[in-house]
Amino acid sequence: MPWAAGVRQPVIAVVEAADAAEVADLVRYAANAGLTISVQPSGHGASGDVAGVILLRTGRMNRVEVDPARRTARVEAGARWDGVLAEAAGHGLTGPSGSSAAVSVAGFVAGGGLSRFSRGHGWAADSVRALEVVGADGRAARVTADTDAELFWALRGGGGDFAVITAIELDLLPIPHLHGERTLWPAARTGEVLRAFRQITATAPRELSLWVTRSRTTVAVEVTHLGGAGDARDLLAPLERLGGALSGDRAPRDLAGPADAVVRAGRSPFRAELLTHLDDQVLDLLASAPPPLHLRHLAGALAEADPARGAGGILTEPYLLVTGPALPDGLAPHVSGRKPYTFLAPGESAAHAFPPSPLARLRRIKDARDPHRVLRANFPVHQ
Ligand SMILES: Cc1cc2nc3c(=O)[nH]c(=O)nc-3n(C[C@H](O)[C@H](O)[C@H](O)COP(=O)(O)OP(=O)(O)OC[C@H]3O[C@@H](n4cnc5c(N)ncnc54)[C@H](O)[C@@H]3O)c2cc1C
Repeated sequence: MPWAAGVRQPVIAVVEAADAAEVADLVRYAANAGLTISVQPSGHGASGDVAGVILLRTGRMNRVEVDPARRTARVEAGARWDGVLAEAAGHGLTGPSGSSAAVSVAGFVAGGGLSRFSRGHGWAADSVRALEVVGADGRAARVTADTDAELFWALRGGGGDFAVITAIELDLLPIPHLHGERTLWPAARTGEVLRAFRQITATAPRELSLWVTRSRTTVAVEVTHLGGAGDARDLLAPLERLGGALSGDRAPRDLAGPADAVVRAGRSPFRAELLTHLDDQVLDLLASAPPPLHLRHLAGALAEADPARGAGGILTEPYLLVTGPALPDGLAPHVSGRKPYTFLAPGESAAHAFPPSPLARLRRIKDARDPHRVLRANFPVHQ
């Protein structure tokens, strides 16, 4: 059963691979038998598009090796962010995880990955230096920008349609320059919290990331600052002036902790949208919208052109919104229609995640690398 427990998976077989050699054997078997494989380490991104496929589980391939001198980690395909963060923390390092540390690093970076550090460092996939893969022909390769630029580009944001990733080498960040906190108010203060959020994010440096999560009873602000606690205080003054917080945790936070409302939204149907702006009208609509509601400031490095970037490309919309399955009334004119690949929901397609030109490039790469459709991502580029 996938993590997204409501999604039905009428597969023909489930295979647990112990290592890259077993992955290659399975891919060759499927290619010869005219079958299709979908990799699913955890099912956090399960779309249900798996009728008749072989589901490949990678959970046993979960080794994490940190190289403190180079500040890198080599992470096997089934390793989850919690494993990477725990191993990295022992060396004073951390990695670009998102709001759930239970998702696999491979699934996260294959879809680009919006991390707590994305405003400063771009997509999590931008931290990837090399990928060990098994191609749709069953051959193993180590892929970098120099050895295979097209595949390297596609697998860092275009999803898992092009090869099976067996291990990832990625850059880590030093923890001592990191400050995080989480403050909770009663849900009735949502409007005021959102106004303070807007004021701070209008001029926030890229080192500062704010996420707001509203549940039925509370509204929480999570802060991640790539810098000291003192600098963060000045930047966060509009929130401090609000007063009346139920609780506040200003110690360096456990970055593995989940944002509660998104967890619930993920288990049940959810919907993600990119907001083009946050004017008074949008703020009022969000403040009166039913929970769950999760709002993230994006922009910074995500909005900048970077020739080394993967298929996620530039994200110009300044805010990400995650809600229950129905978009709150009145918001439709204020969203762009694009969605980050890792936030696609069942029923949506890769065409929601990519503008026409990168989507066409991804489709060409798919046709060249997997003409017989041996591999299928949760959101295939050809749908
Ligand atoms: C509670 C929750 C919080 C989340 N928070 C964030 C967040 O902050 N930022 C963000 O960007 N996303 C977030 N997501 C989305 C999540 O990152 C994606 O759903 C991601 O794809 C999950 O990866 P997985 O491998 O754990 O899931 P799975 O459903 O097991 O895999 C998803 C897809 O990844 C691909 N894939 C996985 N492993 C491989 C591999 N070895 N080789 C090739 N392809 C592979 C496959 O195409 C597969 O269909 C969140 C999801 C949930 C449920």
